[in-house]
Amino acid sequence: MDCGQRVEIPDIRAHFDAHGDAPDCAACVGIVKTASISFGQPMPEAEMTRAEAVTLDCDLMLVLGSSLAVYPAASFPLMAKRNGSGLAILNRDETPQDRFADLLINAEIGPTMRAIVQAL
Ligand SMILES: [Zn+2]
Repeated sequence: MDCGQRVEIPDIRAHFDAHGDAPDCAACVGIVKTASISFGQPMPEAEMTRAEAVTLDCDLMLVLGSSLAVYPAASFPLMAKRNGSGLAILNRDETPQDRFADLLINAEIGPTMRAIVQAL
C-alpha cells in the first residue's frame, strides 16, 4: 500500500496459507493487500480514465455483482446507457439502477454465468 509494488497472489499464497496473512512488502516492508479499493481510498486515476473510455465505447455494459451504490464506479452504467449502450445487470439483490436495465437478473452470479457459458 505504501510503495506501489505489485505482487501476484500465487507468489504470496504459501505465506498466507502458513500464517493466515500476507507477508510484508519485499520492497518497503509495508502492508500488502489485494488491489481492491476500500472505503476511503481514492480511486486509481489511470484505471478510472480507462473505465470511462471503454464505457463510452461499449455497445453493451454487463454489471455483475455490484450494488451500484458506491460512486464514482456506480456512475459508469448510466454513462454507458446515456451514450446509447444496452445495460444488463446481474446481481443477487436489487440495485438503485435496476429500472434502467434492458436485462435484469436477480440471481447468484456463479450459477447464472455458468449456465450462460454452458449455453454458448
Ligand atoms: Zn512496498
